Amino acid sequence: MSKIRIGIVGYGNLGKGAELGIRQNEDMVLAGVFTRRDPSKIKLMTEGAKAYRIEDAKNMTDQIDVMILCSGSMSDLPEQGPFFAASFNTVDGFDTHAKIPQYYDAMDKEAKAAGKVCVISSGWDPGMFSLNRLYAEAILPQGHNYTFWGKGVSQGHSDAIRRVEGVVNAKQYTIPIESALERIRQGETPEFTTREKHRRECYVVAAEGADKSKIEHEIKTMPNYFADYDTEVHFITQEEFDKNHGGLAHGGFVLQSGKTGLNNENNHLIEYRIKLDSNADFTANVLLAYARAAYRMNKEGCSGAKTVFDIAPAYLSMKSGEQLRKEML
Ligand code: NDP
Repeated sequence: MSKIRIGIVGYGNLGKGAELGIRQNEDMVLAGVFTRRDPSKIKLMTEGAKAYRIEDAKNMTDQIDVMILCSGSMSDLPEQGPFFAASFNTVDGFDTHAKIPQYYDAMDKEAKAAGKVCVISSGWDPGMFSLNRLYAEAILPQGHNYTFWGKGVSQGHSDAIRRVEGVVNAKQYTIPIESALERIRQGETPEFTTREKHRRECYVVAAEGADKSKIEHEIKTMPNYFADYDTEVHFITQEEFDKNHGGLAHGGFVLQSGKTGLNNENNHLIEYRIKLDSNADFTANVLLAYARAAYRMNKEGCSGAKTVFDIAPAYLSMKSGEQLRKEML
């Protein structure tokens, strides 16, 4: 069986996660990593694999089956996505939620013209969470859907704290409020305020001599980021920060509670939970499963942009349709 040749664009957390993930998929092989930085300075973990300048990709269209686009959503993918869609099947985890329709249109145009399949926004949120919301709402239309994030690191909120005067380093954890989760699990369908769903924990390294109470006040009252939440601020040393807060853990819940029966007497609960030591590794593994789908669908003559909603689950699996049917216990 010939392997699916995977290219990786962008070698940050996600790019490294994709490189490691390929090792766990025996039908895939790493064909190359493409970066905007000097490729000779990029140390890959895969023996025999090579890093290339991003411009070299255009000469390698016959060597790569699917490009995994691992660059940033904010400003990289809106440019790189359509560029690569014009020559390759692609998969990405574009997560600027409000701009997904616009990004879809740009990718669809290029992918259709090139006869390629480009899967967009296929990480966990958007991605697996979106898919689980859709399943839950389709199955229990008389119901309420809830999403909780965490415990996990929010990059955007950590950046916001680092911009406060006197802050040297910071990490922010978003934490779901357990009592809110429990109410849904008990069949209640509450309307939560922002404060009732999540709280925020901040670990901050302050500059020497900085006014800590001023920093704390500024964080807790920051509009859009913290003012609507119960926020705890802990000041720690750089050593503690390095020792305990280097990870990229994340996770969350999608819950749907619904009712059926003549008098709505039957309660149902769907709960999808993920708990991740590494947000990047997990997201990369989702992208790889969708890379397999993109490759197969393109082989069948399909083209255009796709989201997780458009792809049948069997396309994701390494197993054949026959094997999957045998395992439908
Ligand atoms: P990183 O910041 O680690 O990497 C982004 C890019 O930065 C890299 O591809 C790399 O491109 C560039 N870069 C420049 N200098 C460096 C350096 N010194 N070390 C590492 N990278 C460098 O972001 P992530 O990989 O963590 O995330 C990428 C995107 O994935 C995020 O923007 C996010 O939107 C998305 N994401 C989506 C999720 C989902 O559920 N849908 C979940 C998690 C993330 P280059 O090699 O070209 O320099």
